[in-house]
Amino acid sequence: MAATRTFSIIKPDATRRNITGKIISKLEEGGLRVVAQKRIQMTEDQAKQFYAVHKERPFYGDLVSFMTSGPVVVQVLEGEDAVARNREIMGATNPADAADGTIRKEFAESIEANSVHGSDAAETAKEEIAFFFTEDEIVG
Ligand code: ADP
Ligand code: MG
Repeated sequence: MAATRTFSIIKPDATRRNITGKIISKLEEGGLRVVAQKRIQMTEDQAKQFYAVHKERPFYGDLVSFMTSGPVVVQVLEGEDAVARNREIMGATNPADAADGTIRKEFAESIEANSVHGSDAAETAKEEIAFFFTEDEIVG
């Protein structure tokens, strides 16, 4: 199967605890390759737009505050079946439900501060990558 791409964020709870390297190691050990990466401070507008799909959910306001509470690392990951592979390595949204060995099981603080974001489908991956990166910033 050909290599595909997905979009990933290392969230503020993880940058705050200085564990970005540990998280990237999990992704690499799981068979994914970082082909674009930058550490940014997300603006409120960016966070609102990025999570617009959740705007009717009760946690939306808190999520926007959390995602802008410190730096994040946005990255493009490449590998076989990258979207699904990344979700597998991340584990379930709620760390209490996440499988052993997953990033969220090992590192997440809570269902909100759960250390990583990963695209949920090929189409959203494409949109999310384009939201943060230009094609010439992606170097496979
Ligand atoms: P995932 O990140 O696993 O795709 P969702 O897309 O459902 O999960 O939610 C987006 C993000 O919103 C989650 O990663 C988490 O940070 C936050 N979130 C989801 N559900 C809740 C909740 N019930 N309470 C607080 N925050 C939540
Ligand atoms: Mg999601």
